Amino acid sequence: MANENLASASGVPFAMAWTIRVLLVGDQVFIAEALRGMLVDEPDIEFHFVRDAQAALATAVELKPTVILQDLVMQPIDGFELVRQFRAQPDTQDTPVILLSGKEDPKLKAQAFNVGANDYLVKLPDRLELIARIRYHSTAYTNRLQRDDAFRFLRESQQKLADANVELQKLAALDGLTGIANRRRFDETLKTEWQRAQRNQRPLTVLLCDIDWFKMYNDAHGHPAGDLCLKKVAAVLTESLKRPTDLAARFGGEEFVLVLPDTDQEGALVVAHQCLQRVEALALPNPGATGSGFVTISIGLATLVPGRESSFDILVDMADRALYGAKIAGRNRIVSAD
Ligand code: GH3
Ligand code: MG
Ligand code: MG
Repeated sequence: MANENLASASGVPFAMAWTIRVLLVGDQVFIAEALRGMLVDEPDIEFHFVRDAQAALATAVELKPTVILQDLVMQPIDGFELVRQFRAQPDTQDTPVILLSGKEDPKLKAQAFNVGANDYLVKLPDRLELIARIRYHSTAYTNRLQRDDAFRFLRESQQKLADANVELQKLAALDGLTGIANRRRFDETLKTEWQRAQRNQRPLTVLLCDIDWFKMYNDAHGHPAGDLCLKKVAAVLTESLKRPTDLAARFGGEEFVLVLPDTDQEGALVVAHQCLQRVEALALPNPGATGSGFVTISIGLATLVPGRESSFDILVDMADRALYGAKIAGRNRIVSAD
């Protein structure tokens, strides 16, 4: 805890928090000198004196004493009134105040505690008792500051951790290169949508999209250009989705997958054709590609109303086989699984 770089809530650096800083407020110089004399042999106690009661509040805010010794009777401010002022100021509201009085009077004592003083001593106090009380109040105060700081630090750490977790969850679901959903997110979505489709007995469609002759694109333009191409294709596929429940994800390498819940083959073919056209419309030259000479994709499409026993793997298998069919049939086309 005793870290020099950390400041406590009141702005007292921790390293300084071990020093006892006494501020005496009083208009009798001889009392001040007597008290100073009592504390002079205590190396860990700093002694400060302010004679003008009207300047006491500002001095305390600046000095950050760990204990205030204050005369009860002063001019022109009443001692009780000054205690109230200390309590009303955020910087001094918790600073211990020991009132110094000329009288051993229970009524005055009661009022002192009522207005917020922490202790009451009759002048001139015994040296040992004075030091013991100063140490007691000062330690309690600095302990409290340190505890408040520890709690504040804990609260901040917890908030940072919560923020980082939210960020991490987002990142964990996204593909690092293209920024669209990743394989893991696809797996989760497909599982959920499969179960929903099974419950509601509705069609579910998966489109597997593979860039044609992509190895050649990389060979012709270099890997960084290949990466950029992947980003553009990912964006085009995402733009082609119609419903909030549709998902576009990177399946791996130069393969993407679309999940279209509650969509039959006819509806899915509309989306697939748009994907095909939009990728070609990017007009990214691929010298190795047959046909247009631009980057194109092949799509394997599979639609199912899930049966009771079947698993969602079957849908991906079907789309994969359809995709293979699209490749051998010449690429830049859609093949639907039967
Ligand atoms: P096909 O038409 O049969 O799909 O041919 P293809 O060349 O696209 O297929 P192949 O499987 O032979 O090659 C895929 C290429 O995709 C090879 C690999 O270097 C490239 N690739 C995979 N992931 C990335 C990536 O993240 N960035 C880049 N630039 N290239 C990638
Ligand atoms: Mg491939
Ligand atoms: Mg390919």
